[in-house]
Amino acid sequence: MWQVIGQERAVSLLQHGLEAGKLAHAYLFTGPAHVGKMTLAKNLAQALNCEAAERPCLKCPGCLKIDAMRHPDVQVIGLLQKEDATEAKLIGIEQIEYMQHDANLPPFEGKHKVFIFDNADLLSLPAANRFLKTLEEPVPNVTFILLTVNDKQLPLTVISRCQRLELAPMSLAAETAALIEKKGLEPQRARLLAGLSHGCPEWALDAINDDSLLQRRDEDLNKLLGVLGADYEERFAYVAQLAAHFSQDRGAVYRVLDLWRDFWRDLMLQKLGCDDMIINIDHKAELVEMAPIASELEQIKGVIDSIQSCAEHLRQNANTRLALEVLMLDIPIKEGGLIKAV
Ligand SMILES: [Zn+2]
Repeated sequence: MWQVIGQERAVSLLQHGLEAGKLAHAYLFTGPAHVGKMTLAKNLAQALNCEAAERPCLKCPGCLKIDAMRHPDVQVIGLLQKEDATEAKLIGIEQIEYMQHDANLPPFEGKHKVFIFDNADLLSLPAANRFLKTLEEPVPNVTFILLTVNDKQLPLTVISRCQRLELAPMSLAAETAALIEKKGLEPQRARLLAGLSHGCPEWALDAINDDSLLQRRDEDLNKLLGVLGADYEERFAYVAQLAAHFSQDRGAVYRVLDLWRDFWRDLMLQKLGCDDMIINIDHKAELVEMAPIASELEQIKGVIDSIQSCAEHLRQNANTRLALEVLMLDIPIKEGGLIKAV
C-alpha cells in the first residue's frame, strides 16, 4: 500500500517494476516542494525491503523502521550540520566517498540498500563527478533515489543515468477528494487545505498535524488586509518590520508575497465569476466585497505583476526595504469602499 497521495503514474510504474523485478538502479524524482518526493522514495525503500506479499505493507518491522528512518540499510544524504552549528551549503565529496564505501558492503539488516539524496541539486560538482562512477557501475541490491525541485541544476551526466519521474502537483478536485477519503477531513477543510497547498498534499498533511501553519497564514493574511486600508506611513512601518525579518528568514517573506499573490489572484477569479477555483475560501466575504469595487481586471493584474517582480528583485538580492516599499506604492488603497489606483 503506497502512502504517497496522488502520483498514480509514478506509483504504477514503480509497482510494475517491482513485480517484474525490473527496477532501475537509480531514480530521479523531480517536482515542487511538498509534492510527495520523499514519501514516494521511502515507500520504494520499504517495498524493496518488505517481507510481505503485497509490498510495501507499511506494517512489518522493516517498513516501520524505514518509516521512522531508523533502518540501517536506508539512508538520507543531505546537507551536513557542521560542528560550528552552521549548515554546509553543498553536499560534499566526502559524503559521497563515505556512501560509496557503505554501498559496497552487503545489506546489514534488510534485503536492499537505498540511498536517498534530499535536494540532489545541492551536490557539489566534485561530489557529482565522484557519484557518477557509482552510477556507471551499478552494485546489486543498491538503489539510489535523487530528489530535486529543479533538475536543471544537476549535471546532465548524472540525470542521464537515472530513471526520471516527474511528480506534478495534483488538481484541486483530486487533492480535495484524497484528503476527504484518506484523512477523513470535512469537505470544507479539505478544500481549503488543498487550495493553500497548491496541489502539493504533503503541505496539507503538515498543516493537519501542525496548527501553527494555518495560524501563521491567518496572521499574514490579516496583515495584508490591514495594509489595504492603511496609509503610506503605516505601510512603510510594516515594510520596515518585514525587511528586518528578511535577513533572518528569507523564506517567511517569500511566503508572505506568495500569500498576497494568491489573494489578488482570488480577487481576479471572483471578479470573473470563477469562484470555484479560489484558494482563500475562508475569506470569501472580503473577496465578494472587494470584487465589484476593484475597477478593472487590468488593475488586479498590475498588482499581481508587482508582487511577482518584488519577489524576483528580492531573489536577485535587491535592497529589501526598497523593493517592498515600491510594492506598497503599487498596491491600491482601500478607502471608503473604493480602491483607487496610485
Ligand atoms: Zn512491510
